[in-house]
Amino acid sequence: MSTSEQEQSAAVVCYRHPARETFLRCNQCGKPICASCAVHMPIGYRCPDCIRGQQKTFETAKPMDFVWAVVVSGVIAFVGSLLVGWLGYFTLFLAPGVGVVMAETVRWVTGRRRSKKLFTMVVITCVVAGLPVLIGSLLPLLLGLGAGVQGLLLLWSPLWQVYYIATLTATAYYRISGTPLRWRK
Ligand SMILES: [Zn+2]
Ligand SMILES: [Zn+2]
Repeated sequence: MSTSEQEQSAAVVCYRHPARETFLRCNQCGKPICASCAVHMPIGYRCPDCIRGQQKTFETAKPMDFVWAVVVSGVIAFVGSLLVGWLGYFTLFLAPGVGVVMAETVRWVTGRRRSKKLFTMVVITCVVAGLPVLIGSLLPLLLGLGAGVQGLLLLWSPLWQVYYIATLTATAYYRISGTPLRWRK
């Protein structure tokens, strides 16, 4: 930013500590800040006010948004998981498609408000809503009906369910939040 370069020679005082001279400026609003107030970001120094404002714009979801997001993503994820059994190979196209539909519907019902917690809840809901059908498809195996080669065939359907849940969740999260889903922080 040009404001930070312009006044480098003239010492000013920190806007929060009038007794401290400083050469640093917030690279967003241009206010002078001392070294102990400045927050070092990858893009430069920011004042505490701008940091706080940034977090506020990121967390805009209202309490009802969480309810709607969970209901919508739960219903869509569950209905999609019912289709997986019929579609077989076409799950390759179904999973990302359902993810896009879910993301757009969630964005619509929440008025495109954002919240990290909201995105995480959508991910959890996707996985939970996919579980009943996944467990159902595992039942023959759990009951010991499949042995040997037949057992391997019985794995086919649960594998598609797992693929469906993983792809759906990753697609929906990426589309809602604008950032790729990282399983570990
Ligand atoms: Zn600032
Ligand atoms: Zn200060």
